[in-house]
Amino acid sequence: MTIAANNPHLKSWVDVPAGSDFPIQNLPFGIFKTPQLKERVGTRIGNHVLDLKTLFVLGYLENLPFELSDFDAVSLNPIMKKGKKGTRDLRNRISKLLDANQEDLQKNEHHVQQVLIPVEQTEMCMPVQIGDYTDFYSSREHATNVGTMFRDPNNALLPNWLWIPVGYHGRASSVIISGENIHRPKGQIKPNPEEPPVYEACRRLDFELETAFITYDGKALGDSISTDEAEDYIFGMCLFNDWSARDIQTWEYVPLGPFLAKNFASSISPWIVTLDALQPYQCEGPEQDPKVLSYLEYKGQKSYDINLQVLIQPNNGEENLVCRSNFKYMYWNMAQQLAHHTVNGCNVRAGDLMGSGTISGPTPDSYGSMLELAWKGTKPIQLSDGSERKFLEDHDTVIIRGYAEKEGVRVGFGEVSTKILPAK
Ligand code: CA
Repeated sequence: MTIAANNPHLKSWVDVPAGSDFPIQNLPFGIFKTPQLKERVGTRIGNHVLDLKTLFVLGYLENLPFELSDFDAVSLNPIMKKGKKGTRDLRNRISKLLDANQEDLQKNEHHVQQVLIPVEQTEMCMPVQIGDYTDFYSSREHATNVGTMFRDPNNALLPNWLWIPVGYHGRASSVIISGENIHRPKGQIKPNPEEPPVYEACRRLDFELETAFITYDGKALGDSISTDEAEDYIFGMCLFNDWSARDIQTWEYVPLGPFLAKNFASSISPWIVTLDALQPYQCEGPEQDPKVLSYLEYKGQKSYDINLQVLIQPNNGEENLVCRSNFKYMYWNMAQQLAHHTVNGCNVRAGDLMGSGTISGPTPDSYGSMLELAWKGTKPIQLSDGSERKFLEDHDTVIIRGYAEKEGVRVGFGEVSTKILPAK
């Protein structure tokens, strides 16, 4: 179906600098505040935030299924509760209001001054009240690299991996917004395999390059969402850094999987880019062999061509690009992940967060974690200040950026940036 707001020929009367992640074709949703205004729903156009609460009060969002409390909110959950059609109609309406050929808002200078706020005057807030967080493990290259390092290069993938979009239930309480610092976690590690474990600060702190998708309300407990239906239940995507303590993980993860190595923090970018806005960037995914079970079969293109980068910025230093990857490398797509998640009747709710799993590509510069980039510490990464990294150091800032681009239209996510502080 054609989504009016995705028209590549649209231009806005609001200035959008060249190379911006936020042209009129994007219109992501987020929660912002300013020194004068408390938290509310906004969208982003160029270097401005559009205040949707005030836009509603001024009468520009009439005849849509929304009320004031949906925009006068500290999370996007109320608007997500309206489902795909509601948020699609809302984005189409905003697109019309910002279209250079439409005068309704443009000509009303007094209103424009109230609703359009320079981005430097705003502070972004946690966009979603996350109910449940699930993390998948869907990059074949990542799973192969990890299996090669820790088990057997000849049998790197576990027998279930090509059959099941493997995942686990993560922790929602420690998901944080870009800009918030984390402290190096402490826990049980076993630096010497011959000795008992010790309680110490993590020595092998790592990022994981991921994206995440946010769901609408799903079906009732007991019902399943098919791959055909899946995209109707996905609101949008964000960038996701799923922090990992590799040494804690190595000691704790058998038999029940990751626990304290993963639940101390996960960082998300503040703007949720709708799946609608990403539709023009759909592409073919990897060939799946063996043939998947029937409930995981899908029609059409369900992968997305999204360029991803990871940068490490040492304390007050310059940014070092350490990884270039792409979301399209994912073996299992989001529709298959959601179909698998619900095939047993598990229900999802508006505001659930589903991590992709670390997104590694085929080449060594596209690996999505330090574990792989520095190959378990055996190939340290050189930084521009002369230092090297096997894992992350205190005061390092890790930045993930991502965007899709086609025919001159770039739809991006901005960034997720988090600084590591010493252990408490
Ligand atoms: Ca992860």
